[in-house]
Amino acid sequence: MATSNLTVSHAETGLVTAEVVRAARISPHFVRITLSGPELADWRHVGFDQWFRLAVPTHDDTRFDNLPDEYDLRGYLKYLRTPKATRPVIRNYTVREYRAADGELDVDFVVHGDEGVAGPWAQRLPVGASVALIDQGCGYRHVDGAPVLLVGDESALPAVVGILRDLPRDTRGDAVIEVLHADDVQPVDAPAGVTVHWLVREPGRAPGDAALALVRTLPVVDSVNAFAAGESKLATGVRRHLVAERGVPKANVTFCGYWRAS
Ligand SMILES: Cc1cc2nc3c(=O)[nH]c(=O)nc-3n(C[C@H](O)[C@H](O)[C@H](O)COP(=O)(O)OP(=O)(O)OC[C@H]3O[C@@H](n4cnc5c(N)ncnc54)[C@H](O)[C@@H]3O)c2cc1C
Repeated sequence: MATSNLTVSHAETGLVTAEVVRAARISPHFVRITLSGPELADWRHVGFDQWFRLAVPTHDDTRFDNLPDEYDLRGYLKYLRTPKATRPVIRNYTVREYRAADGELDVDFVVHGDEGVAGPWAQRLPVGASVALIDQGCGYRHVDGAPVLLVGDESALPAVVGILRDLPRDTRGDAVIEVLHADDVQPVDAPAGVTVHWLVREPGRAPGDAALALVRTLPVVDSVNAFAAGESKLATGVRRHLVAERGVPKANVTFCGYWRAS
């Protein structure tokens, strides 16, 4: 089964290089990294859950100048042709906040241990490091007047909180965000008619389990505009539940597996 139906839109700015100017542990499982640089002044900011491919350095010789401008199949093949020894690792991240006046962009990284590249890199608070970004646009598709149902785990907290921030103020609905610890809850600028349900995962429980269980209890209308992201089983589970058990049209559900529990 597919784990995403996100559509991608690339900005004309192509590959954007930037530098880590600040890095801080903001809560038990999140590091906020602030990127800056002259190229970020022209960043195509579209808000909501806007995401990008992040080229993360793996050592001091990592090169960003030979990367593709777009990350479609051609771009990916071009990336694969660059020398392995000096190419960065590419991962997906969400714009947490963009400040055009300062040319700054914040990214909230889930700190998930020593496995992988991007999480451990962020955990080291790499101030001064170079990175590159390839904009991919928004996954969330806004439908005027439709009630929303937004569901995410900690990896999709930036996406859900970004969507809430940018929704028209008369939007109604529910948002469900599952985090690892009560101190990982962040302030949210949500429309008054959207109820935000924060859930803290109990030790030993699978990621997304609690969020999916809550979704099952919420009232849902056919016209709902749903967005579900996070651990793969949460994203596909919410979609399956809404379509198969609640009769929501497939087209009303945007979903994306952001990571896969091993
Ligand atoms: C559109 C999109 C937007 C995203 N936005 C964000 C964002 O803003 N912030 C964010 O933190 N993540 C975000 N993610 C998820 C992020 O891309 C993945 O978590 C990614 O796998 C992290 O890369 P890594 O190098 O740290 O680990 P990987 O090399 O990919 O994986 C190494 C190991 O770590 C585990 N792992 C990976 N991610 C997590 C996690 N979140 N929790 C627990 N274990 C994990 C894997 O299961 C694997 O065993 C987004 C993903 C997508 C598709």
